[in-house]
Amino acid sequence: MNIKRNVLLNPGPATTTDTVKLAQLVPDICPREKEFTFMMKGIREDLVRIVHGSLDKYTAVLFCGSGTINLDVCINSLVPEHKKILVINNGAYSSRAVEICRYYHLDYIDLQFPADELPDLELVERELKAHPEIEVVYTTHHETGTGILNPIREIGQMAHKYQAVFVVDTTSTYAMRPIDLEKDHIDFCMASAQKGLMAMTGLSFVIGNKEMIEKSKDYPKRSYYCNLYLQYEYFERTGEMHFTPPVQTVYAARAALDEYFAEGETAKWERHLRVFEAIHKGLEKLGFENVIKREWQAGLVVSVIYPKDKNWDFNRIHDDCYEHGYTIYPGKIAGTDTFRLCALGAIDQEDIEGFFQVFIEALKKSHVEIPVKY
Ligand SMILES: *Cc1c(COP(=O)(O)O)cnc(C)c1O
Repeated sequence: MNIKRNVLLNPGPATTTDTVKLAQLVPDICPREKEFTFMMKGIREDLVRIVHGSLDKYTAVLFCGSGTINLDVCINSLVPEHKKILVINNGAYSSRAVEICRYYHLDYIDLQFPADELPDLELVERELKAHPEIEVVYTTHHETGTGILNPIREIGQMAHKYQAVFVVDTTSTYAMRPIDLEKDHIDFCMASAQKGLMAMTGLSFVIGNKEMIEKSKDYPKRSYYCNLYLQYEYFERTGEMHFTPPVQTVYAARAALDEYFAEGETAKWERHLRVFEAIHKGLEKLGFENVIKREWQAGLVVSVIYPKDKNWDFNRIHDDCYEHGYTIYPGKIAGTDTFRLCALGAIDQEDIEGFFQVFIEALKKSHVEIPVKY
């Protein structure tokens, strides 16, 4: 089989290997079969291993859905009655979490910081001191809209100092930038198979503290399909997802996990960094400017400001690149016109070099002045 290889520079779904794509072609099977539940057990354990958690203390709970299902699940399941959730918010994904809090009518604090700045931890501590009823502290590890990396280790330590549960959206760092549940003081993190794992869309997972999940048994059930305890309990009792899993996607995730461990945590992270550096190098040569200070970037997403050139038309440049097999992506910052180049997926430095040849041709074709002007 010959599948066209596209280089996706969008923030997920990411470029996958052919072996992961082909892992989906399996004989039809009912997911209630032992063979399938056995495979899911192994996947759940490997997902905990990626973030160095002990299998006695942590578990992974799988859901059928895109990454946002994890935000929904954690937020609606982990806040007991008469308690609060504090969201440390410096970007679009934490704002999404705030919206979820609002839709579930939770008692929440939306602690906002500018999208291009790190949260002020003194202000975080002030909230925790003033509101002992905060049960959950929530933030986003890497705000994928801008590329900024948040100091989760420090935030987690502070959350624990005030006896709060620490939940982190690690969707765009998991299986890329190394994470350690214990050292990073994480009680719950999450991801989706199509990002760091370089597998297919439709499978997401929350990784967290078993005892805390069990404690949430008696918390209000705010969702039928998306409750963490209910899905956990079903997995523990039967080995199955409560409702039909995305069968073929699960096979792809199995293959992707094998490839993850074969490549190795350090080598994989170094590869992503190599891609990230190549993106910066290419952009710098052309005179493009970044939104986020370089030392604050997570090493995975470069958010670029539109040049001031009457001929710059993002969609036109996108379409030209797309025709040649490279996908670039618009930004996600209110009030600033940006686009993004991301270092996710099964790609390496040479792919970025290939991309810049195509990108430069597209700029020339559009008569955008090089180096670009601001
Ligand atoms: C991709 C992503 C999500 C999930 O987005 P979906 O479109 O639902 O898959 C959540 N949080 C972060 C930080 C992300 O990068």
